[in-house]
Amino acid sequence: MARPGHRVPAPLVRDAARRWRQRAASDHAAWVRERLAERYASETDLRTRLGLPVPPAGRPKRASPREASSVRGLHLADYPDLVLEWAWEGNADLDPARLAAGSHERVAWRCLLTAAHVWETKVADRTYHDSACPYHMGVRVHPAESLAAYFPWLALEWHPTRNALRPDQVTRASAREVVWRCEQGHEWSAPVYQRTLSGSGCPACYRLEAAARTKAGKTRARRDRDGAAMTKVVALHVLPTEGEAV
Ligand SMILES: [Zn+2]
Ligand SMILES: [Zn+2]
Repeated sequence: MARPGHRVPAPLVRDAARRWRQRAASDHAAWVRERLAERYASETDLRTRLGLPVPPAGRPKRASPREASSVRGLHLADYPDLVLEWAWEGNADLDPARLAAGSHERVAWRCLLTAAHVWETKVADRTYHDSACPYHMGVRVHPAESLAAYFPWLALEWHPTRNALRPDQVTRASAREVVWRCEQGHEWSAPVYQRTLSGSGCPACYRLEAAARTKAGKTRARRDRDGAAMTKVVALHVLPTEGEAV
């Protein structure tokens, strides 16, 4: 029991706060691990019941560079990992079993991790050079994963003529400096992440709103003060308060 006037030393308070934060963080980590384990178990269960193959997990890894000599005389069908990504609906009547591994034919591929990732590149790019899904490799931004998809209201403020790219061509965490235009027609420039992560808005509108707030606050204060004074005047001089002798 702390005596009146007794203060807990600041370092002890800090230690307690730090321990509390550590415990909260480890509790949370345990909770996340549990949820993931549950989810993984249910997915595995479903997969075994339906007889589905296990999809690759995590970030795609760059394939180890292939030996150039191995491409000679081979067909695309000799690369089972590439055949998995062959976009059957996009390549019409092309047959991976007849397509030379070194072919410069441009064909369509579909990402194993995200079905919406469909891209086109030469067969040789994938057999000679280890190119992978450009959307996962951060080379290209898929429109469904772009700023426009996640923050449509920011896409509305994207300046239509002063930017090289469109809002469906950048990610929501992009550090690219972009020119914005608000509803009032103010223009300013800010990196994308500042608008999405920090939620910053139009600085000119902010200044106007702050000024309006200050003005409204002053008006309110004056009205309150005048009102209070008036009440006092009325109470003192004009009307006797209820219960008081006249
Ligand atoms: Zn992908
Ligand atoms: Zn504005």
